[in-house]
Amino acid sequence: MKSIQATTYSIDFQDKGYEQLSNLIERKKYSTLFILVDENTFEHCYPKFIQNFKTTKSLEMIKITSGEINKNLETCIRVWNAITELGGDRKSLLITLGGGVITDLGGFVASCFKRGIDFVNIPTTLLSMVDASVGGKTGVDLGVLKNQIGVFSNPEMVLIDTEYLTTVSEREIKSGMAEIIKYGLTYDIKLFNKIKQYKSLNISDLIFRSIEIKNNVVQQDPKEQNIRKILNFGHTLGHAIESFFLESENKKNLTHGEAIAIGMVCESYLSSKLLGFSFEKVTEIKNVILTIYDKTTLLKDDFHKIMELLKHDKKNINGQVNFVLLNDYEDYQLNCKVPVNLIESSMEFYNS
Ligand code: NAD
Repeated sequence: MKSIQATTYSIDFQDKGYEQLSNLIERKKYSTLFILVDENTFEHCYPKFIQNFKTTKSLEMIKITSGEINKNLETCIRVWNAITELGGDRKSLLITLGGGVITDLGGFVASCFKRGIDFVNIPTTLLSMVDASVGGKTGVDLGVLKNQIGVFSNPEMVLIDTEYLTTVSEREIKSGMAEIIKYGLTYDIKLFNKIKQYKSLNISDLIFRSIEIKNNVVQQDPKEQNIRKILNFGHTLGHAIESFFLESENKKNLTHGEAIAIGMVCESYLSSKLLGFSFEKVTEIKNVILTIYDKTTLLKDDFHKIMELLKHDKKNINGQVNFVLLNDYEDYQLNCKVPVNLIESSMEFYNS
């Protein structure tokens, strides 16, 4: 697969990726190499990585505990301490080997350590391959509030090796599908049509096209002033729903993609109510999503808590929630204001 060129770095696939990583290390003459893993990527991905990665330099491993709940500043402090104790300096390189939690947190840790060291993303889940590892957003959550602390910072390269997906659970693969559906609905409907045939998908093609789309959008608007906001379709309500389930001790956590999928159903409904997006298409989106994901019930009693969490969305300005909605497939409107009662109706629509 050919490489994809981003603004300051490239996204390289399979063997070419490992070759490029070795070249980068040779060229930049790093003092120390660190690799950030969690217990799952240590077990399933690190052995594959070591098999493919050729270097004479030693590699210092830093392991954190998996899960969104650990994507926070406390974990960052632990990683910064570990890098310091292991002799890290400004010429160190941090390789992140993991899902979006590892690439988001690792990128942030690297970007702040001694005012910034280089990092390389090696995403190991579908979601992190198609979305989190590309585009330069790094950061962590503040309590349950998603991605409140972070910086835009680009990796030196991204290495995509689809072999890592062989150990990813079906639930996590489906989580990644949600971001592909988002690219389909907002940018390239062919992707959505492919997802409809959920059982016979060419995953490498979907990954390549998704990265191409994300990279195109980010290149036009790296700091999310304009078109990059389309990548938030489904995420405004989705993040609030994800946070709500994270903070509810008696409820099973949703994966990022499961929450975004609910968010896309609700925001498609809002699109139909406010922008005249065809209701037939809303129904189609809901049906496709409910074939892939188990139905989650959003209790009416919990709506106000979700609405409360919406107030913290990063796109809000002057306390006003801003949605990205659809006029049609591949045709969107940014900065849409939505009345509270309609947001609640959209959750009722998801439940119905
Ligand atoms: P994740 O990182 O929590 O990974 C999911 C689970 O899979 C974890 O338990 C992990 O240990 C395990 N895992 C990872 N790779 C594995 C492998 N190859 N085999 C077996 N198990 C493996 O979750 P995710 O879905 O990858 O990422 C979600 C995060 O990404 C969220 O925090 C979200 O906010 C963030 N995100 C960031 C961006 C961005 O632009 N920066 C975009 C989208 C999502």
